[in-house]
Amino acid sequence: MTPETPITQDVLTIPRKDTGGGKKNLVGLTRDQLRDELIAAGTPEKQAKMRTGQIWQWIYQWGVRDFDSMTNLAKAYRAQLGEHFVIEIPEVVTKQVSEDGTRKYLVRINGGHEVEVVYIPEEGRGTLCISSQVGCTLTCSFCHTGTQKLVRNLTAAEIVGQVMVARDDLDEWPVPGAPKDETRLLSNIVLMGMGEPLYNFENVRDAMKIVMDPEGIQLSRRRITLSTSGIVPEIARTADEIGCLLAVSFHATTDEVRNKLVPINKKYNIETLLAALRAYPRVANSERITFEYVMLHGVNDSDEDAHRLVELIKGIPAKINLIPFNEWPGSPYTRSSNNRIRAFANIIYQAGYASPIRKTRGEDIMAACGQLKSATERARKSKRQIEQEAGL
Ligand code: SAH
Ligand code: SF4
Repeated sequence: MTPETPITQDVLTIPRKDTGGGKKNLVGLTRDQLRDELIAAGTPEKQAKMRTGQIWQWIYQWGVRDFDSMTNLAKAYRAQLGEHFVIEIPEVVTKQVSEDGTRKYLVRINGGHEVEVVYIPEEGRGTLCISSQVGCTLTCSFCHTGTQKLVRNLTAAEIVGQVMVARDDLDEWPVPGAPKDETRLLSNIVLMGMGEPLYNFENVRDAMKIVMDPEGIQLSRRRITLSTSGIVPEIARTADEIGCLLAVSFHATTDEVRNKLVPINKKYNIETLLAALRAYPRVANSERITFEYVMLHGVNDSDEDAHRLVELIKGIPAKINLIPFNEWPGSPYTRSSNNRIRAFANIIYQAGYASPIRKTRGEDIMAACGQLKSATERARKSKRQIEQEAGL
């Protein structure tokens, strides 16, 4: 891809649209949008704010999917809602459970497309890795998702719907009246699945606002991490409009290598990216930026790279998350050895940065970072095509 190519050119953005026999889906609407829809469907304006609050709570606090269960609304009003609206989330096509407990869901969205969602259980908590697009336009040469040709932006409903799918499967919707359980199976969200979240900014933002809402799923903004390949103009907006934590797919210490690994670097190079990160409004020690760094044998894993990395990020409150490369069918790289990864980590650690090595989870079900790709996606690029585009 050349730097001039408008990256979003073949991304289909689906307008918020009618589903199920002309009925609108209420999932994914902001509070204001929900209110407007209720008024348009005949709710008296005077009542609209209260009704919005009630319906919101049923959907996002209690996980209810039919209007008849909304017992604090009059029967006739429930019937009226049912005539105009549905409460719809993506359908789970398959669910796979790894030996280590990681769960991978393949979910179907409108248009028959499919995306993957991964739940990673940990001691006393659990992280859900969600997708923001079907496929990705960015063709990073080490990433399976980048080889998928078809790309479409997910709607806010489809993004928040992934969280609701997981809560259904984990049976984690509270029961009205039951004592509040503070331990959460799904306690954290990472936008590290398929797609570049900052190329679908508005929908990602609206979905995360719903997830953070205090009268719903109630996840703190500090439990949400958005990972970007470095879409510089959108980085400051992430802090201002979402407020979540930021992770950046850094992966190389020279423009020459980063151009090959993360081609968007040709448009926003390392220097430009670092300037945006230094200016990230929320950066403080408590909310450090995560630098993701995939360990590729003989490509970006030398001692010199580690020293350069430390020099580059000087002054930015950061932690460096080292990701052992996860292979996928036809991938053009191999993983650095454990000793190499440890040596690299040590140099970074000695320089004063946390340098955790990401544990590979769910590899047996192809659920690890960068392995996601719709199983039904047939139009796969050939190995040769991937290598050519990466300039290998
Ligand atoms: N598009 C966003 C978020 C999704 S990718 C981004 O690129 O940041 C989440 C992380 O997995 C990124 O850091 C990505 O570079 C990394 N990744 C992609 N393919 C990988 C692979 N095969 N092995 C290990 N990590 C990979
Ligand atoms: Fe897209 Fe991220 Fe994969 Fe790059 S690493 S192709 S930006 S999903």
